Amino acid sequence: MNEATMVYAGHTIPVLGCYDTVIVGGGSTGVSAGICAAQGGCRTMLVEKSIRLGGTCTNALVTPMMKSFTGHYSNFYAIENRLKQHGCVVRDSIGTEMRWFNAETMAQSIEELYLEAGGEILYDAALCDCLVEQAQIQCLILATAQGLCAVYGKQYVDASGDAVLAHAAGAPVDAGDENGNNQMSSLRFEMGGIDIEAYRKYVFSLGDTYSIFTQGEYYESAMVGGRNFVLEPLFQAGVAEGLLHPEDLRYYQTFSLPGKPGCLSFNCPHLATLTKNTSAMARSRAITEGRQMIHRLVLFLQKKMPGFEHSFLLQEASMLGVRESWRLNGVYCLTEEDYTQQARFADGVARGDWYIDVHSATKGLFHQNNYRDGDYYEIPYRSMICRQVENLVVAGRCISATFLMQASIRILPTVIDMGQAAGAACALAQKNKIPLNRVDGTHLRENLGEMR
Ligand SMILES: Cc1cc2nc3c(=O)[nH]c(=O)nc-3n(C[C@H](O)[C@H](O)[C@H](O)COP(=O)(O)OP(=O)(O)OC[C@H]3O[C@@H](n4cnc5c(N)ncnc54)[C@H](O)[C@@H]3O)c2cc1C
Repeated sequence: MNEATMVYAGHTIPVLGCYDTVIVGGGSTGVSAGICAAQGGCRTMLVEKSIRLGGTCTNALVTPMMKSFTGHYSNFYAIENRLKQHGCVVRDSIGTEMRWFNAETMAQSIEELYLEAGGEILYDAALCDCLVEQAQIQCLILATAQGLCAVYGKQYVDASGDAVLAHAAGAPVDAGDENGNNQMSSLRFEMGGIDIEAYRKYVFSLGDTYSIFTQGEYYESAMVGGRNFVLEPLFQAGVAEGLLHPEDLRYYQTFSLPGKPGCLSFNCPHLATLTKNTSAMARSRAITEGRQMIHRLVLFLQKKMPGFEHSFLLQEASMLGVRESWRLNGVYCLTEEDYTQQARFADGVARGDWYIDVHSATKGLFHQNNYRDGDYYEIPYRSMICRQVENLVVAGRCISATFLMQASIRILPTVIDMGQAAGAACALAQKNKIPLNRVDGTHLRENLGEMR
């Protein structure tokens, strides 16, 4: 290699830079890792295939943070405070510890926090390969506007959600349940021009017991076909009139959007035909199907739902909402028994307290919930590393966990903490001149300090 180029697959390609820490994926996990690595003295590059940070919580339009009653690290509160500074009201008014935001304010807030920490970003660059020598990733090969380019790092964080770097580097990965079927993906959308009070009044007039938001700024409503939701007869009428297809009744859920009066975010449609979302072709087909479902739902709501008479489609997600796909098969695999037993580990570096929340593509919804407020399990550092690739840590929804357990660890408060742990591991590994998979998780836990 000379200073500015290297040879990859017989082609001479540009080298964009050499860093201490290179992070793949600028979702909430990757940003949190980047803030902590950069603050810890690592020259840090965050590689993101889209053109804004946040991943699922911005580009896939997943805008509520699930409620969490356990302690969290500093990045979690820094994000909340920055959202507040930008006028985004983030706590609901009924004290459930749920945080709500909108995608634009979140993207702005986390980009500011990451850049202030001293990290660099490479947008519009997709990881497509990496070179590995002697169990260490040497460099990433990225598809960019400049063509294929390389970025070198001493250590790497896979925060891609899909474990794409772990996979490319030859680390063992799993996907799906015992039959290889993944959790259901969703293609979310937002609508504007809604008279939310009229909508709320109508749903409550039907005797709705789903929503606890009887008044105030927030409102949410839902309809799951076959489960006696008060809105189902109206949706059935939509099917009878040819506005909807039966599969559109599988799952309908909508929430308020802070800072966007008259707008609602839709946590649907569910893409049930996408049983194996690790298939590129299947993912692509499901996106087309999801878009058709969105357009049917929008027309149905405009024609049939009180409050939606003057509404319009504000935006469709620019990224598929993937709940679960590839997961690292690491040194420790977190299991549902760890959930049940509220497991504690000497190298516990993050906590989870959301229930096991499976939206199965083949078996429907499955919930296991036996926690009281304040109960939690720990996530060991060993579930974020593997033996096969030494200078790699995996964080976020693709760590080493069983299918069922992944359905608990995947929520935003937990992945932000995992990101912070991964960034702290990078700083510690750099300081002690050791590979990431030899970082002592107990020592890392001490370095991370108390959660609050
Ligand atoms: C439909 C749906 C509803 C949900 N509802 C909630 C909820 O209400 N509350 C809650 O707390 N959680 C919810 N979740 C879960 C939560 O949003 C996600 O698990 C979490 O955001 C994942 O964060 P992440 O950073 O690990 O991954 P992601 O947010 O997926 O980020 C991964 C990033 O990596 C990038 N990337 C991927 N591949 C490459 C590549 N090859 N090269 C470069 N970059 C790449 C992506 O563009 C993305 O920016 C929901 C998830 C879904 C899908």
